[in-house]
Amino acid sequence: MSPASPDRFAACGRDGLHLEAGFENSNPSDADFVGNEADGTYVIRQFLEAGAPAGYSFHLNVAFVNEGTAARRIAVRIQWAEKEFDDAHDYMYIGYDSGARWQMLSTPCRDGVTEMALVVPPGRHLLCCSPKFDCADYAALLRRFEKHPALERMNVAQTPGGRTISCLRCGTRGMRKVVLLTRAHAYETAGAYCIDGWLRDMVRAPDRYAGVLSRLELYVFPMINPDGVAAGHCCLAPSGVNFGNELITRAEDDTGALGFRDFVLGLKPDFLVDMHNYTGKHQHDAFRCSSQELLDAFAVVAPDSSYQQKVWSPLNKVYPQNYLIGSCAERFGARGVLTEFPWYTRLPRDMREHGRSFLSVLLSLFAA
Ligand SMILES: [Zn+2]
Repeated sequence: MSPASPDRFAACGRDGLHLEAGFENSNPSDADFVGNEADGTYVIRQFLEAGAPAGYSFHLNVAFVNEGTAARRIAVRIQWAEKEFDDAHDYMYIGYDSGARWQMLSTPCRDGVTEMALVVPPGRHLLCCSPKFDCADYAALLRRFEKHPALERMNVAQTPGGRTISCLRCGTRGMRKVVLLTRAHAYETAGAYCIDGWLRDMVRAPDRYAGVLSRLELYVFPMINPDGVAAGHCCLAPSGVNFGNELITRAEDDTGALGFRDFVLGLKPDFLVDMHNYTGKHQHDAFRCSSQELLDAFAVVAPDSSYQQKVWSPLNKVYPQNYLIGSCAERFGARGVLTEFPWYTRLPRDMREHGRSFLSVLLSLFAA
């Protein structure tokens, strides 16, 4: 299998309707993985990076470009890298106008293959497993918030791919430290939208957060694995490091992992929130925490997400020391929360609102 190399732009198609791959965050990223059948069907083979653990074939991002002036209906076949997850591939998202507006699509999958008809309006439109959040979105988020007086951007580490792992610091120095992070796993975009939703509300209504910001010192990381995101990987960084459970054991293999890990350990955080993604038709928002006291307190104030067809799934879970969350618990007594939020039924505005309400109540608990 060819390595993922985002600089190998690939396009195929006919009659003014092209399928693009090979751009940043696309999957697949190789010309060998896209093509047209003789009958005109657009064929996409999903790429799964070498060494990825089983059960991570949940990233796909390609673009369809309709150069005409009328919508076209085309046949699309997707060959997924794993055959065991048809349920999770039964729905996808289309990002109209390169991701400006999103819709969820029904995309029936059988035996690892999705056959679908796709209506492509004039213009460029993305087809993704879930709404993408790429390195350009990350840069735009940092630009949007770094100038706000309540927020300070800190560049924490440099990745092997030359990308910067940054955080936004806010709150009051010397108070209890909170590290909020997401995108350990490259395909899991839910946490980035949650953080974006909370930050938007915080700068829009700072008075509402005055209490929290006076009692906490926050370090917010919207993307800790930008090399994996850029390469269109599902799980791992291109270095092979799994930022989910190898930051303690293998960080020396990746300058970004090492710099990020050492920065967080140097903070000696009191709280660590690690946000992940469920993929599939999940109706559960997972809230995992080793503190029963925090679980009980959260149950009282947990925001209602039933209008997004979700209920909370709290779980008392102790993470081992190879997880950053487990290591911080062991070294500093940090209380850790790991979330898994599913996209299914949600659009970006729903995920932003979910993140706003979730982080508002969680940070209030931390500040109490
Ligand atoms: Zn994950």
